Amino acid sequence: MDEPTTPVQPADPMRVTTDALGSEPSLLLRAQRREQRLLLLLLPLFAVACLAGWLASELPGAARWYERLVLVPSAAGFVGLMAWLWRCPPAHVARVRAATLVLGPGIVLVGQGQLLADLARNGFDDRYYFGWSPWIILCSALFIFLLPSRYSWRFAVGYYLVSLCMLVVFLALNNRPLMQFIQVEFLLNGVVAPPVFIALLSAFTRMRSDYTRARAQAESLRELALLDALTGLPNRRAFGQSFARARARQARTKAPLCVLLLDIDHFKRVNDTHGHAAGDDVLRGLAGVLKRELRGTDEVFRWGGEEFAALLEETPATVLNVVAERVRAAVAGAPLLSHWPVTVSIGATHVAPGENEDTVFARADTALYRSKREGRNRVTVVETALAD
Ligand code: GH3
Ligand code: MG
Ligand code: MG
Repeated sequence: MDEPTTPVQPADPMRVTTDALGSEPSLLLRAQRREQRLLLLLLPLFAVACLAGWLASELPGAARWYERLVLVPSAAGFVGLMAWLWRCPPAHVARVRAATLVLGPGIVLVGQGQLLADLARNGFDDRYYFGWSPWIILCSALFIFLLPSRYSWRFAVGYYLVSLCMLVVFLALNNRPLMQFIQVEFLLNGVVAPPVFIALLSAFTRMRSDYTRARAQAESLRELALLDALTGLPNRRAFGQSFARARARQARTKAPLCVLLLDIDHFKRVNDTHGHAAGDDVLRGLAGVLKRELRGTDEVFRWGGEEFAALLEETPATVLNVVAERVRAAVAGAPLLSHWPVTVSIGATHVAPGENEDTVFARADTALYRSKREGRNRVTVVETALAD
């Protein structure tokens, strides 16, 4: 027995474009992956540095309360912040910055104030430099989070250099030979770690801002691609997405869903008689009438040319004809073009559960052309067997 053959559907350019719009452009994905890889490197490095700083202050039995109680939680908070930043949508980055603005300076001021107070009280001690490099890292992170990336690394490097000078001054004032302090830990914690972190954080924020900008651009392009430039209504591409969402809601609530297809009558004559610009005004005016006449939850689309579509949720069969008739009358009564009656023909139908867009539109189209055939400026409703 022969296998039943499925007719090959011609490629639908609208559908291809919708799919392409629905997925993330590969350029953005690459930027995001680069950013994530950097973070995967940065977070463990920072955690290890904080742990090392904490252990260093613990092991010699020289723990200071701010090192235990401020540094480690603030490092954990910082890592948490980074993780949130990683996952949060770019729109929330401003909130992360605001949170950092409130928390960061507080933590840094308390910690450094305490360090300075200790220095003033007890003089300089070998172990102070253990607590020094994490503060530089934390402050650099603050600069980098709070300032635009163009300036942040300069401030971070400046802060690092000033701190380094201050340390050298403290060491000199302490009347101890400088070389006594230059040990491996000092070099690693004080000289190598902060610049590495400054570089990594700067690279991260630069990437983040590039990515945020690219994403915002992609989003506005996506929005533009779904909007009709003339009327400002969502276009035919947008219909596919709205239809899928409405159908999902319909499956859940079992509320009736309807589609109206509208076509301006003899629109060619409008263009031929009054010019294309007047025709465009009519299209814009009609979009306004449709939006006014339908409920806020109904969606109106420019289907193409002088055709419009509307998606009406929770509209039972008994009401569909009344709504479509009200829309038709509103258009006929609207002063869209002086001394020229602008009317529409409407085809209306319900969407049966599980039905696809093409079937629904084929039915609405049949209804619309029946309205045209029967004299225009009228409504035809074609029911599905399953409509209520
Ligand atoms: P019918 O009642 O059978 O629908 O007649 P009609 O003249 O409205 O239909 P037809 O398909 O012959 O003409 C549609 C016209 O709509 C032709 C086209 O120039 C015009 N049109 C399509 N898009 C635009 C637009 O964006 N602006 C303007 N001004 N005219 C448009
Ligand atoms: Mg038409
Ligand atoms: Mg027409």
